Amino acid sequence: TELPADTNETNVTRQVKNACFSYVKPRIPSDPKLIHVTEEVLELLGITKEEAQSEEFTNIFSGKELLPNTRPYSMSYAGHQFGNWAGQLGDGRAIILTEIENNQRTYTLQLKGAGLTPYSRGADGLAVLRSSIREHLCSEAMFHLGVPTTRSLSLLLTGDQVLRDVMYDGHPDYEKGAVVCRVAPSFIRFGNFELFSSQNDLKTLKSLADFTIKYHFPEIKVTGKESYIQFFQEVANKNLEMVVHWQRVGFVHGVMNTDNMSILGLTIDYGPYGWLEDYNPDWTPNTTDRENCRYRFGNQPEIVLWNLYQLANALYPLIEEAAPLEAILNSFQSKYEADYANMMRSKLGLVTKDENDNQLIHLLTENLQQTETDMTIFFRNLSKIKKVQSEEEAFSLIADSFYKINEVKDQLKETWLYWFTQYLNRLRQEEQTDEDRKVAMNAVNPKYVLRNYMAQLAIEAADKDDYSLIEELHLLLKNPYQEQPQSEKWFVKRPDWAREKIGSSMLSCSS
Ligand code: AMP
Ligand code: MG
Ligand code: MG
Repeated sequence: TELPADTNETNVTRQVKNACFSYVKPRIPSDPKLIHVTEEVLELLGITKEEAQSEEFTNIFSGKELLPNTRPYSMSYAGHQFGNWAGQLGDGRAIILTEIENNQRTYTLQLKGAGLTPYSRGADGLAVLRSSIREHLCSEAMFHLGVPTTRSLSLLLTGDQVLRDVMYDGHPDYEKGAVVCRVAPSFIRFGNFELFSSQNDLKTLKSLADFTIKYHFPEIKVTGKESYIQFFQEVANKNLEMVVHWQRVGFVHGVMNTDNMSILGLTIDYGPYGWLEDYNPDWTPNTTDRENCRYRFGNQPEIVLWNLYQLANALYPLIEEAAPLEAILNSFQSKYEADYANMMRSKLGLVTKDENDNQLIHLLTENLQQTETDMTIFFRNLSKIKKVQSEEEAFSLIADSFYKINEVKDQLKETWLYWFTQYLNRLRQEEQTDEDRKVAMNAVNPKYVLRNYMAQLAIEAADKDDYSLIEELHLLLKNPYQEQPQSEKWFVKRPDWAREKIGSSMLSCSS
């Protein structure tokens, strides 16, 4: 606790000044039950499977009991939400239990949905089962896809009812309350820095920056202004890397507010996220963002940059020089373009670079969008193509990925055959064999992702007390790049029933 803390140990909602966090106590759940635990995360923390089945584990990770000699806390932060300054926010329903050191690494354990904190504002500090299932499954799926992310240790029911919606006839629609335990080296966000900067509290801003660098950026050896510049560069690099991964796998975060941006470049705060099924850069799963679509798939890289501008502004008082920050921001765009092109080349199985690659990639994404093409199925099946094949043969290998195959055949086949002419020519420039290319492509183009309807099926079963699909999907998504012949049923296009149904109120921002 080198950081200034708010020691007024009550969970009452309040304005907190000159403090990075407030001590809090998790809410006592009435009847906690473990639904699912992630074995790999247990291992990271040095907890055994037997221990995870104990009553003590259930009590600790539901908030019923505190670990001995610990003092849980919630962090204060601010943020820009949907492009507007939102003032003090903070962990409204997240409580950090403790840190665990294991194998020379440190992990912060955070309960989400364990009740009120000083930062809950008008809300209840709780989480419902459906959003907790979505966070638990997706953070692990992302990890196994190779995307930087917070992890999820456990998913528990609290035994309490939580109110989110009122039915059309005025009846309250109670839902099961749940708590997830998230794990990350740090949960510090861009918004933590914005808070103190906005309050002109340079003393706390500096202690937060120094603390963050000391514990989370040990590679920064310099001190003073130069350390904050290097810190900003590192945060920019990490977040750039994260968003390139999102574009690779078709993940749409949905709420890229600066309070949801990790300084470690981890995907954080799984709320109304979604996966591209038909490739559409304009799509957002977040119904509260349907008008402006600020956080649409195709806009995510630009939003990372926008958020970095806000962080730069927040750090400025520590540096008092705009030029080094501007240089980092200015290089973001060109770095992104280069990294994106390399990423897309890898998805296409191209090892070398060609001056026409950007054109090839651009035409591809236009086609994918125009013909409503399932992104995951398309790229996975693309790896089956052989250099000697014709455009027609290539087309037939990916034909399964079109949502409206007849429409494509009637009107858009020519543009696809044109693209395949370019692509096959390009493949023939490469020395890599068909087989090696297939292996390489299948290592970057997942076969299984957490399609929106899959999470929905797990939620519907869980509502009826059947948690088996959570385990099934968790296991499936542990090996997203591997062929799993017994699981072909999850390598299919989104079913028609899920087309519009998903995207209603269940994906709202803070469920
Ligand atoms: P989000 O859009 O989920 O990142 O949430 C924005 C802010 O609202 C954060 O400060 C959250 O902690 C807070 N928040 C969201 N849901 C709740 C809730 N049910 N109770 C208290 N605070 C919440
Ligand atoms: Mg958040
Ligand atoms: Mg949230």
